Amino acid sequence: MSIHDKVSAVLEATPKGLLINGEWRDASDGGTFDVENPATGEILATLASATEEDSRAAMDAAANAQESWARTSTRERSEILRRAFDLVQEHKEDLALLMTLEMGKPLKEAQGEVVYGGEFLRWFSEEAVRHYGRYASTPEGNLKMFVSHKPVGPCLLITPWNFPLAMATRKVAPAVAAGCTMILKPARLTPLTSQLFAKLMIEAGIPAGVLNVVSSKSASNVSDPIMADPRLRKVSFTGSTPVGKQLMKTATDHVLRTSMELGGNGPFIVFEDADLDKAVEGAMAAKMRNMGEACTAANRFLVHESVAEEFSQKFAAKLKALKPGNGLDEDSTVGPMVEKKALDSVNEFVQDALEKGASAVVGGKPVDGPGYFFEPTLLTGVSEECRVFQEEIFGPVAPVTTFTDEDDAVRLANMTEYGLASYVFTEDISRALRIGERIEYGLLGLNVGVISNAAAPFGGVKESGVGREGGAEGIAEYTTVQYMGMPSP
Ligand code: NAD
Repeated sequence: MSIHDKVSAVLEATPKGLLINGEWRDASDGGTFDVENPATGEILATLASATEEDSRAAMDAAANAQESWARTSTRERSEILRRAFDLVQEHKEDLALLMTLEMGKPLKEAQGEVVYGGEFLRWFSEEAVRHYGRYASTPEGNLKMFVSHKPVGPCLLITPWNFPLAMATRKVAPAVAAGCTMILKPARLTPLTSQLFAKLMIEAGIPAGVLNVVSSKSASNVSDPIMADPRLRKVSFTGSTPVGKQLMKTATDHVLRTSMELGGNGPFIVFEDADLDKAVEGAMAAKMRNMGEACTAANRFLVHESVAEEFSQKFAAKLKALKPGNGLDEDSTVGPMVEKKALDSVNEFVQDALEKGASAVVGGKPVDGPGYFFEPTLLTGVSEECRVFQEEIFGPVAPVTTFTDEDDAVRLANMTEYGLASYVFTEDISRALRIGERIEYGLLGLNVGVISNAAAPFGGVKESGVGREGGAEGIAEYTTVQYMGMPSP
């Protein structure tokens, strides 16, 4: 089958409606919105756009399904997730193709995301049946205690556009494992992957009302009525810090449980004793994966002054060899920014740094032609006043700042309100651990540029968020603890 035919087939097979109570429906007012290919500007598909009334219907479905769903055995829930994992493997080409089409990432990276995203289904299928409580006596011996974990209740799951499959599976899988019902709101720019994933969940046997999917051109059409509903018990959000803060404020009205996976400003620290080739390899992965549009992206390269020149030259040579282009072309190694606004924002960051004295060793501007491409860019001489140092860039731009010693490196690394991913390159294990203890980050890659894994707890500190996804910690976010006591027999 030609790539053109494959694209038509997967777009045809992807549901375009709202998934409410097990049925695909049109929006109550017949409204729709278009999904665009950022590499070409073409319209890929037109989807139903949820109204407030649709969102209330999805909330009703989730609330009505909660009690019976909570009573299903953990084995049953585990097996649904396992089947979903198998189905994702069967449809890995379709899912990858959809992600490249709607988000822009090169096909190879999209295939990598199917592996990573699929693993949450397998991991939580395995965790579902291993969630233990306890039976114990009180210290006085007069009472027996039964401590158990119960599903927290209906959840609102809001995902961003940058990892369309993995951000959905990272929330849906633990919620299913714990016995929660849910309403998934995918990002407006990249809903197609979630639509196809939901179709696979239905095929895997998820009962009506347990998983509802409401895409919309308006985020507030979905979040306002659902967040106002007292039956909602949790909101799990991945996205920008300002929106996360707003949701946390609203969540106080009904004392909701919250998980917030927010922005980052990751430092990538290279010490004078680092293996520089390994550091450059790590830098390429930490910076260029997903075109830099990742919350875990290395945002600031903090390099010891004695090796900064050599590191920058090696890094620049690798960046120069990259080839921006349509993710469907096999030789493209960097995709476009997700939309025009994102491209303009990256450009503004670079211009600001250049005005404040930085130099562009490679790149520095948008690529001419159609699509929202930005040249892979290395900036040196970046000061603490530059926006690229202070804010999340979300693009293929690597700013290098030098440091003098360990204390200086820690000071620069922690000089941000964020605390999600960080990276340290050194051949001295004692130094690595020392730095690990001093820097304020939820994740730290030691001599490696990508550490996300379904088995590991993922999440940030400070304004990067609260809660963890993945690992044994991931399911706990969707459960609450109940204690029952009775007189000792
Ligand atoms: P965003 O905050 O603009 O949107 C995220 C989601 O929230 C989307 O579904 C959007 O439609 C929805 N949304 C927007 N406004 C809303 C509102 N007022 N109420 C309810 N929902 C609303 O973020 P984005 O641009 O899609 O994603 C990029 C951001 O996400 C970056 O800051 C990145 O660091 C962060 N991110 C974090 C993680 C993590 O795990 N920590 C992972 C991926 C992305």
